[in-house]
Amino acid sequence: MLKGKTALVTGSTSGIGLGIAKALASQGAHVVLNGFGDVDAPRAEVLAATQGSGARVGYHGADMSRASEIEAMFGYCQAEFGAVDIVVNNAGIQHVANIEDFPAERWDSIIAINLSSAFHTTRLALPAMKAANWGRIINLASVHGLVASAQKSAYVAAKHGLVGLTKVTALETATTGITCNAICPGWVLTPLVQKQVDAKAVALGISNEEATRQLLGEKEPSMQFTTPDELGALAVFLCSSAANNVRGVAWNMDGGWAAQ
Ligand code: NAD
Repeated sequence: MLKGKTALVTGSTSGIGLGIAKALASQGAHVVLNGFGDVDAPRAEVLAATQGSGARVGYHGADMSRASEIEAMFGYCQAEFGAVDIVVNNAGIQHVANIEDFPAERWDSIIAINLSSAFHTTRLALPAMKAANWGRIINLASVHGLVASAQKSAYVAAKHGLVGLTKVTALETATTGITCNAICPGWVLTPLVQKQVDAKAVALGISNEEATRQLLGEKEPSMQFTTPDELGALAVFLCSSAANNVRGVAWNMDGGWAAQ
């Protein structure tokens, strides 16, 4: 379905981004990975997902908090793959603390990585997408783009901002073949959330299993994690022709979290 298209998935060496990268590769898209840590293992997983379709897998290690490195990554994509047809803005970090204890530099990093990076990729991707009159921009927001939780000021502010950016991008491209939408997951058991489970277990002196149960019980009525594969399938749908007129949506996959 996506043969010949190139997808850039930020923060795709782990978790949700890796799941989405595999899902897009399974549809024939070339995929450019980005993120920190080990690259060989995720690259091998995404290559396996191409199932010999001939789709290629690239990598650029841009730090998404730096506009100049994001520009360099687009230069790499252009040189190696031609234009970027699909951008998945997924890179993100978390920090949990009350506002008065929140380190100012963590605030700046979260706003830069979780929000401003999507502005930069969008402004860099749009000219070629407009020239081709086709494009998909998918912003990995969060249920925290729709509702708040205490102690997550920077994250909630960034994700609400990302939902706002999604709507503006959708309006500015509304008469074109480019769509922009946000995905808003509830809990997904990735390293980002495992850290929060571990912190809860230590803070309350309870087992990891009990901490997981409490974490889900506080917010997620389904008592069930969403998986990176499920989010990958939603991203594939948003890239399909069936979603040609899905524009500016913030689509939650949150086990009923935001329905409460
Ligand atoms: P993760 O920690 O498993 O993966 C984050 C990825 O981002 C990694 O590849 C990491 O290397 C990369 N990254 C971090 N900082 C970066 C930087 N400065 N530059 C480039 N890459 C960087 O996290 P995840 O849970 O898969 O989260 C992915 C996205 O989904 C985030 O935007 C997160 O806010 C969002 N999200 C996660 C959940 C959840 O429950 N896990 C829920 C809602 C939304």
